[in-house]
Amino acid sequence: KDKCEDDKRLNQALCRIKQKIVVLSGKGGVGKSTVAANLAAGLALEGKKVGLLDVDVHGPSIPRLLKLTGIQPGLEGDMMLPVEWNWNLKVMSLGFLLPDSDEAVIWRGPVKGGVIKQFLENVAWGDLDYLVVDCPPGTGDEPLSVMQLLGEKAQALIVTSPQAVAVDDVRRSVTFCHRLGNPILGVVENLSGFVCPDCGSVHNIFSSGGGEALAKDMGVAFLGRIPIDPAVASSGDAGEAFLAVKGQSPSALAFKDIVAEA
Ligand code: ADP
Repeated sequence: KDKCEDDKRLNQALCRIKQKIVVLSGKGGVGKSTVAANLAAGLALEGKKVGLLDVDVHGPSIPRLLKLTGIQPGLEGDMMLPVEWNWNLKVMSLGFLLPDSDEAVIWRGPVKGGVIKQFLENVAWGDLDYLVVDCPPGTGDEPLSVMQLLGEKAQALIVTSPQAVAVDDVRRSVTFCHRLGNPILGVVENLSGFVCPDCGSVHNIFSSGGGEALAKDMGVAFLGRIPIDPAVASSGDAGEAFLAVKGQSPSALAFKDIVAEA
């Protein structure tokens, strides 16, 4: 009986969310959180109601990327109130709840799954057009819990960098989604070429196009390339969603294309 009551609560929360996008990557450091934050911010700036959930229990970076570190979510009864980035974007991250960001979290899979479930059903997300979920890299406990809890309609957005090794990991992410029966919104190739600040042209430092070739090979949509742009890194460090600050650079335009595809 308890389980049914529980699931009812989860389902009620999920029914109020129109579209769920789970951001995955095979490897760390490819810009997954950056893409998740900019996708969420970009949708919110377009007037959509957006939730951004960071389930990376070992390295929650969303609070930092959106300049929300140190903020405590409010409580209303037994519900947590997500932190508002602007009135359209509500954010929840384990980073808000950890007393000290230097603290290592040592949790086994089922505990992580329980926490993620609470983030979905005990957070007052309200009615959302989009819930964007930033997962830790790989195909471990957190992405598995997220997909299972959100159900088969949740779409995956897979972020890769152009290097061949990272691209191999993408195959695993694609297979993971296929096995679970979740649709794939598409693949994004981040860190793809460098925009020279002097001449403005894009130099391909690593071989470029691996993400696109792989997407084609696996029958998945390719959502575009985002170049390496020092402004993306510095705006992330400064806690500004990149889209909000730089309107027309090649990287901002690439982010906007991704937002348009979502
Ligand atoms: P992940 O979530 O995959 O571990 P992050 O989003 O935290 O990766 O990004 C890792 C680092 O790379 C961050 O410092 C971020 O600012 C930087 N970064 C991400 N994408 C770009 C880009 N297109 N150009 C420059 N720096 C980037």
